[in-house]
Amino acid sequence: MLRRVHARRVPDAEAVAAGDRRALARAITLVESMREDDRRAAEALLEALLPRAGGAVRLGISGPPGVGKSTFIEAFGTHLTGAGHRVAVLAVDPTSSRSGGSILGDKTRMEALARDPGAFIRPSPSGGELGGVARRTGEALLLCEAAGFDVVLVETVGVGQSEVAVADLTDLFVLLASPTGGDDLQGIKRGVMELADIVIVTKADGDLAPAARHAAADLRHAISLLRPKHPGIEAEVLLASSLTGAGVAEAWEAVRSLHERLRSSGRLDEIRAEQADAWLWSEVRAGLVERFRRRPTVAAAVARLEADVRAGTVAPSVAARRLLDGVADGAGA
Ligand code: GDP
Repeated sequence: MLRRVHARRVPDAEAVAAGDRRALARAITLVESMREDDRRAAEALLEALLPRAGGAVRLGISGPPGVGKSTFIEAFGTHLTGAGHRVAVLAVDPTSSRSGGSILGDKTRMEALARDPGAFIRPSPSGGELGGVARRTGEALLLCEAAGFDVVLVETVGVGQSEVAVADLTDLFVLLASPTGGDDLQGIKRGVMELADIVIVTKADGDLAPAARHAAADLRHAISLLRPKHPGIEAEVLLASSLTGAGVAEAWEAVRSLHERLRSSGRLDEIRAEQADAWLWSEVRAGLVERFRRRPTVAAAVARLEADVRAGTVAPSVAARRLLDGVADGAGA
């Protein structure tokens, strides 16, 4: 009974491809599902739609809480839809867990963009694990492209490793920096700075304008000391105010021209190919571990060996080898 009700909800590839937003929303829900039967339906849907994907500018956007991400995305997204683009925003919240509680999925964020017929906003749960970002957000991104969105923004709050996961899914990574961060470069970690193709100092208006200019100069200096992400291309540092709109058009122009430069040089195809390959292997790793744990011989041994490892009586590497050897023996039988 449940199964039949469920089957009726499986979204139709043609409706997604025709740009039907409800079908797209259902399709994303399907790829987010952990259920085995949903997974098969999701894979069939992705196979059908993959030939239509790939056409968007895939843009990661990150920055610390309060830097102005949602205000910027609202201004930036509205600028883009005003210019005739169709913009999808996938908000990855690394702090959200299965129990809910999301800071990025908050409905009050980006109110104007949420009502904009040219935009589509969707929280993308990480489920608390970074592998989840790759699969769920990566598949949602492909579905948005197949539905005709030509700019896909993947937003993540800059609190940890999620930036790396998002940078691995997108063509370009934009880092938002605060005008008032202090000497530690707005608290931005070097590793995150190295991911950035474009850095935008936010809130460059009113009393904050001088501080923003100062922060931009500091950031330019810091970036000049880093190894460039793409040979011969140094990350640009821009100023923007989402309140006055100053710098928003310039931010898009910087994204567009860098994207075009990467595309025409063939680098974009290479980036996407490398990302697809890394995604494949991350899926293989996750699948192997899952299947491994499900094996009866492993399941039986795991509890005991885990207890030994926790108690410090067996070294983790030794326990891992015993588990793997046990399975290899069993498989050879
Ligand atoms: P997020 O946590 O990074 O999404 O940050 P928000 O977009 O919610 O913005 C945090 C605060 O900064 C809010 O109070 C905004 O009104 C303020 N803010 C955002 N953008 C600007 C801006 O361009 N200028 C000024 N002066 N304030 C801004």
